[in-house]
Amino acid sequence: MASSTNAFEMAQRQFDHVAELLKLDQPVREMLRWPMREFSFRIPVRMDDGTIRVFNGFRVQHNDARGPNKGGIRFHPAETIDTVRALATWMTWKCAVADIPLGGGKGGVIVDPATLSVGEKERLVRGYIDIVWHNIGPRQDVPAPDVGTTPQMMGWMMDEYSKLVGCYTPGVITGKPVGGGGSLGRTEATGFGVIYTVREALKHLNMDPAKCVAAIQGFGNVAQYAAIGFIEMLGGKVACVSYWDRDDRASYTVSHPNGVDPRFLMTITDQYGSIDKAKAKAAGYIIEDGDAWISKEADVLIPAALEGQVNAETVTKISKRVRLVAEGANGPTTPEADEYFKKHDIFMIPDFLCNAGGVTTSYFEGVQNDMNFYWTKEEVLQKLDTKMTQAFHSVVEMSTNEKVYMRDAAYMVAIARVVKAMELRGWI
Ligand code: NAD
Repeated sequence: MASSTNAFEMAQRQFDHVAELLKLDQPVREMLRWPMREFSFRIPVRMDDGTIRVFNGFRVQHNDARGPNKGGIRFHPAETIDTVRALATWMTWKCAVADIPLGGGKGGVIVDPATLSVGEKERLVRGYIDIVWHNIGPRQDVPAPDVGTTPQMMGWMMDEYSKLVGCYTPGVITGKPVGGGGSLGRTEATGFGVIYTVREALKHLNMDPAKCVAAIQGFGNVAQYAAIGFIEMLGGKVACVSYWDRDDRASYTVSHPNGVDPRFLMTITDQYGSIDKAKAKAAGYIIEDGDAWISKEADVLIPAALEGQVNAETVTKISKRVRLVAEGANGPTTPEADEYFKKHDIFMIPDFLCNAGGVTTSYFEGVQNDMNFYWTKEEVLQKLDTKMTQAFHSVVEMSTNEKVYMRDAAYMVAIARVVKAMELRGWI
C-alpha cells in the first residue's frame, strides 16, 4: 500500500484491501467507504472578556447498522473533517471486532483547549451539544472523551443534553466520572484488555506467560495497566517502560534488572505519563534513551504510546527472542514493520482488537446507565475479559482458516459483521 498522510485516505485504502479479500459488491463498498452522515457546524461562544469567538465543530457517523454510533470528541487545533471521518470509520471496525452492538462515530472541534478558561470550555461543550443534540442520543450516537476532552466535559455535555430533552439521560455520553454515571473499571479497561488478548495469544503460541518478559513503550493509562496486568494476572516480568519527558523534550526507557514495578513507578509518574527520572534512578532504575525499549531481550513487545513507533528503522532492532507484538496504541506499526513481522513469523494482535477494552467498557457504561443499576469493578472486568477473549478467538480463527495476517483477519471479521447487519436490515 502506498503511504499517505491523509488519515481518511488511509482508512479507505485499508477498507478497499479487505473489500477485495471479501469480494464485496460495489454498492456495499460505496456504503462503507464513506460515512453515512456528517455534521459540520459553527459554535459561537461568549469568551471571558465579553467577545464572541466562533469555533468549527464536526460530528461524523460512519455506520450504525449494528447499533448507535459510538466515538469520542476531540478538541485539537489541527482537527480536520478527514481526521474525524477516518477515526469514525475505525470506530465502526473496532466496535464490530469486539462484537458490541454499536456503530462508529467521532467528533471534533478545532481548538487548543489549553487556551480556554474553565468557563469558556464549559460554554463551548454546551454549545456543541446545543447544535447536535437532535442527532445524538443513547439510541442514535453516543460520544465520549478523547484527545483534549475530559470526564468533566462529558458531565457538562450530559447535563446540557438532559436539559434539552427534559429528562436525565446519562446514556447519551460515556466516559463520565464515576459517581456521575461513569463505570467502575474504565481506568483499567484498555490496559487490562490488552493483557487478556496477550494471555490468549501466549496460549495460542504455547508459551508459558510466567516465563515471558515484556517490553512496553509508554507509561500512560494504557501502558500502566498493561504492565500491572502482565505481572499480576499472567505472572510475567516487565523489563522496561518508556515515556516522553516534557522538560528535556526527549523520550527515555526506564528498566530494572529484576523487572520494573509499575505500582511503584505510578507513584512517581505525573498525570501525563511522565516519570520522575531522578526518583527512578534513586530507586535503582536504569534510564536509557527512548528507543532502547524496542531492542530489549523480551518475548512480548507492547507499543502503548503513540503511532508509527515500530517502523522500517526501529523494527530491525527487535530482539530475535520476540514472538508477540500487542498493539496497545493506535497505529503503532507501519506497513514496512508489518512486512518484517510476516517474514520473521512474529505473531501480532492488531490495535483495534488489542485496545478495544476501552470502548467495550464504555458500552458497559451505557448498559448500566440504561438499567440505572451499576456493577462492581470485578463484574465489569469479568465481562470485559469474556468479550476480549471471544474477540481474539474469532480473529485467530479467521486468520487460520483464511491463511491471512492477523491485521487483515481482524478487518475481515469486523467488515463481515457490519455487512451482515446491513443485509439483515435490508439496506443492501
Ligand atoms: P497517555 O497520554 O495516558 O500516555 C501516553 C504515554 O506515552 C505517556 O507515558 C507518554 O509519556 C508516552 N510517550 C509519548 N511520546 C512518547 C515517545 N516518543 N516515546 C516514548 N513514550 C512516549 O495515553 P494513553 O491513553 O495511554 O494512550 C496511549 C495509546 O493508546 C494512544 O495511541 C491512544 O490512542 C491509544 N488508546 C488509548 C485508549 C484509552 O482508553 N486510554 C483506548 C484505545 C487506544
